[in-house]
Amino acid sequence: MAENKTIAANFIQNAIEEDQKNGKYTEGIHTRFPPEPNGYLHIGHAKSICLNFGLAEYNHGLCNLRFDDTNPTKEDTEYVDSIQEDIRWLGFSWGNRRFYASDYFDQLYAYAVKLIRKGLAYVDDLTADEIRAYRGTLTEPGKESPCRNRSVEENLDLFERMKNGEFADGEKVLRAKIDMASPNMVMRDTVIYRIAHVKHHRTGDTWCIYPMYDFAHPLSDAIEGITHSICTLEFEEHRPFYDWLLDALDFDPATRPRQIEFARLNLTNTVTSKRKLRQLVEEGYVRGWDDPRMPTISGLRRRGYTPASLRNFCEEIGVAKSNSLVDVSMLEHCVRDDLNEHADRVMAVLHPLKVVITNYPEDREEYLLADNNPMHGGRRFVPFSRELWIEQEDFMEDPPKKFFRLKPGGEVRLKHAYIIKCDEVIKDAQGNVTELHCTADLDSKTGGATAGRKIKGTIHWVAARTALQAEVRLYDYLLETDEEGNVPADFIGALNKDSLTVIDDARIEPSVRLTAAGTHYQFLRTGYFVVDPDTTPDRLVFNRVVGLRDSWAKEKKKG
Ligand code: ATP
Ligand code: MG
Repeated sequence: MAENKTIAANFIQNAIEEDQKNGKYTEGIHTRFPPEPNGYLHIGHAKSICLNFGLAEYNHGLCNLRFDDTNPTKEDTEYVDSIQEDIRWLGFSWGNRRFYASDYFDQLYAYAVKLIRKGLAYVDDLTADEIRAYRGTLTEPGKESPCRNRSVEENLDLFERMKNGEFADGEKVLRAKIDMASPNMVMRDTVIYRIAHVKHHRTGDTWCIYPMYDFAHPLSDAIEGITHSICTLEFEEHRPFYDWLLDALDFDPATRPRQIEFARLNLTNTVTSKRKLRQLVEEGYVRGWDDPRMPTISGLRRRGYTPASLRNFCEEIGVAKSNSLVDVSMLEHCVRDDLNEHADRVMAVLHPLKVVITNYPEDREEYLLADNNPMHGGRRFVPFSRELWIEQEDFMEDPPKKFFRLKPGGEVRLKHAYIIKCDEVIKDAQGNVTELHCTADLDSKTGGATAGRKIKGTIHWVAARTALQAEVRLYDYLLETDEEGNVPADFIGALNKDSLTVIDDARIEPSVRLTAAGTHYQFLRTGYFVVDPDTTPDRLVFNRVVGLRDSWAKEKKKG
C-alpha cells in the first residue's frame, strides 16, 4: 500500500508532518485502533482501521490493536475473536502489539491516586441524577458538589475503600476537579471512576471499580507511546480533557499523544450503530452478525466483498472533517471493480426454461471452449448437448419491438455456442410456457462457416444433462430509506421484507463443481456471486454480491 492517495493528501497526515517538522515524535509515528469488544466490526470501523494502520504504514511507524474493555457489562471474548479475524482479513497486522485497556488497570489506579494527591480529583457522593442536575447546561454554569473540597487524605481513603468493595454500585464516584463553570461540559469535573460489582471478561472479580473512557483512553495511549490518537468527531469536545489529564499527570508535551478527530463514515441505506446491529441479530431480523445483508465486516465478507474492495473504498472516500453521507452504491462500485478484474466468468441460469435443440443428436455431447476472464485470460470447456436451460426472461412469446432475445420464429446466439431459432413453444394446461423447441445452425459455432453471421442478441445457457443445481440467494437493501438514503430512526419499522430472495433450483455449468466457499464468479449477465459457506459437496449455495449495473459510475459520468 505504498501508494495511498488518501493518506498522502489528508489533513491528519499534514498534522503529522507538521509535528515532525516541529521536532515532535522523533522516535516515529505510532497509532492504535481501539475497538470496544461489545459487538462485531462494521464498515465504519473498516474506515478507522484503514486510516490508523494506513497512517502508520505510510509513515513507517506502528499501529497497535487495543481492546478498549473498560465496560465489563457488555463485553465478550466472542467479540475479541471476531474483531481480530476481521482486521487480519482486511490485510492489516498489529504484530505482537495486542493490548487491552484492562492490562493497565493497576497503572490507571495509580494515576488516579496521583491526581488525588495533587488535589485534582475527589470522591463524590452525589447520585448520578444529582451529578447531572449539578452539571448545569450549555447556557448555565454547573454547581459545585458539597464533596468537592474534601481533603486529599479523605479522598485517598475513600477511593481505596471504593476499590476494596466497601460501597455499592453508584454510591460514590471519583471525579476530576477542574471547573464547574467551564463552557465545555466535559470539563465540569468529569467522572473518571465508577463502582460496578461485575465480573470482567479478563480481570474476573479483581476489580469492582472501573475507569471511564475519558480517563482510560488518553492514559492507555500515553502508556503505549501512541503519538497520534485518531478518533471520530464526537470526541472533539473531549480533547481539552484529554490534554488536561496528560498535563496534570506530567506527560512531556514533546512526546505525549495528540488527539485528532475525523468524520465518521455514514452510508446511505445502512445503520452503523453497534447497538442497532446487535438488535437486528438478537431479535432475529437477520441470520446472525455475518448475515450477508449486514454492514458488518463479517457480513460483507460472506456477501462476497473482498479485502481489496473495502480498502479501496476507504481510500476512495477520503478523510473529512465534517460528517456526511456516502452513497452505498460507491461501495458496490468498489467490489464490482475488483471482481471484474479477478472473478472468472461462468454461465448459470437463475430461472430455468427448457430448450430442446431438435436437430442435435440425442447421444451427442461436445465441449466448447469459453474464456474465463477478459483480463487474465484462461479458458475452460463448457459441455453442450441437445437439452439446455435458458433464462425464462430471455424468451417472450409476444415481445415488444426492440426485444433482441428469443421469440417465436426468431434467432439468438447462445454464448460460446450456436445460433438457434425458436420453432415451437410448448405449454402446459394452464398456458404456461414449459419448453421451447429450437433448431441450431450447426455451422455457426466458432470456426464454422456461418460463425460470423450477424445476430442481435446473445444469451447464456447451461446444458441440462451436466448442469449442477444450486441455491442462489439474492439480496436487496435490508432497510428502506427516504429519498436521500437516510434510514429512519425507527429502523425496525423500515426493514425491507424483500431483502432476501432464495432461488433453490438455479442451474450452473459443471466447471464450478467442488469449489470452496469464498470463491467468486461472474455469472454472465446476472452479476457477481460468491460461494457461501453453507455449501456442501452435494449442494452449492451462492450469494449475489452485486449486480453488473454500476449506478455509481454512471452517476459520476453524468457529473
Ligand atoms: P460504541 O457506540 O459501541 O462505542 P463505536 O462505533 O464507537 O461504538 P468502538 O468499538 O468504540 O465502536 O470503535 C472503535 C473505533 O472505530 C473508534 O476509534 C471509533 O471512533 C471508530 N469508528 C466507529 N464507527 C465509525 C465510523 N462509522 N466511521 C469511522 N470510524 C468509526
Ligand atoms: Mg466507542
